[in-house]
Amino acid sequence: MSDRIFNFAAGPCTLPLPALEKAQSEFVNYQGLGTSIIEQSHRGKAYDAVHNEAIANLRSLLNVPEDFDILLLHGGATLQFVSIPMNLAKEGQSADYILTGAWSKKAAAEGKRVPGYKVIWTNEDEKFTRMPLAADIKPSDNASYVHLCSNETIGGIEVQEYPDCGNVPLIIDASSHIMSQPIPFDKVSMVYAGAQKNLGPAGLGVVIIKKSLVESANMDIPAFLSYKTHADNGSMYNTPPVFSIYMMKLTLDWVKENGGVTGMSALADQRSKLIYDAIDSSEGWYNCPVDKNSRSRMNIVWRLPSEDLEKKFIAEATEAGFSGLKGHRSVGGVRASMYNAMPVEGAAALAKFMADFKKNNS
Ligand SMILES: *Cc1c(COP(=O)(O)O)cnc(C)c1O
Repeated sequence: MSDRIFNFAAGPCTLPLPALEKAQSEFVNYQGLGTSIIEQSHRGKAYDAVHNEAIANLRSLLNVPEDFDILLLHGGATLQFVSIPMNLAKEGQSADYILTGAWSKKAAAEGKRVPGYKVIWTNEDEKFTRMPLAADIKPSDNASYVHLCSNETIGGIEVQEYPDCGNVPLIIDASSHIMSQPIPFDKVSMVYAGAQKNLGPAGLGVVIIKKSLVESANMDIPAFLSYKTHADNGSMYNTPPVFSIYMMKLTLDWVKENGGVTGMSALADQRSKLIYDAIDSSEGWYNCPVDKNSRSRMNIVWRLPSEDLEKKFIAEATEAGFSGLKGHRSVGGVRASMYNAMPVEGAAALAKFMADFKKNNS
């Protein structure tokens, strides 16, 4: 497998090699059944075990309390942008949004459909270069929920302090940093994530939601979009995305074998320090526009002195075996996405490439 490259893509992205190899080795004939797992009935014994183990892995790794349901849904994180206001925005109450970048704005675009839509904090005027502090966040008196994107994948900022919203449910989009740090379930009532950054293949959405929130959700909505439907049916109301769930199970087995969330957090520290050190030691030649206190450990963004140099950097990096470094089309520059499965050696090699590139071009 020495022909694997260092893939810094924002998502879909690097998955753990042992998980890929395990899938490969058992793919054609799963556990002697004479079929692959994706050819088995989703109501059969073999898939049922995969489904339950995937959920059990999520629960144990993230220390999910008993009074939370774990739902495995179609539609990635984006469907949740829609489902949240449909299920949880109450008549006569506000739906509070914190705007910290491109993804929270996309979530808010669906929130706007309810009459109570309200932006309670934004720093768009500072170009989304920092996250709010806990003390900055004051939910409306009558809010149905507060929505926060806890790691902005495009802007490269990550929440450091979770706001305390009191009795108002706090909902977080943790798509791009789930499993890299503990989730404070004492402050958070719902967490959701698209799987394709830290958990597995695209298409799967993971929703971890307080049972009381499911019970009090709006019921006069299409059954497929109702959290209650999926909670009551163990995420088997219809055929679940079986391949994505199977791959997530294998990915989480790998997380477990590598120290769980504590292990993943330590790796994220090591990787991100290597790249931020390369930026900070360049005396401004590499420039990360993000406030130091909000720097993401998963998505690191930076600029070079000119767009021509950025193009050259990306071209030479690609040649050297680093892929996916082009910044998002909306912001330009360079972005290194380093999710749980990115080996520390990948970050070390990129840091060295950055130092060499600067030497040769400044
Ligand atoms: C990638 C991403 C999404 C979108 O996920 P899909 O699975 O493509 O719907 C939403 N929010 C954040 C923070 C993301 O990084």
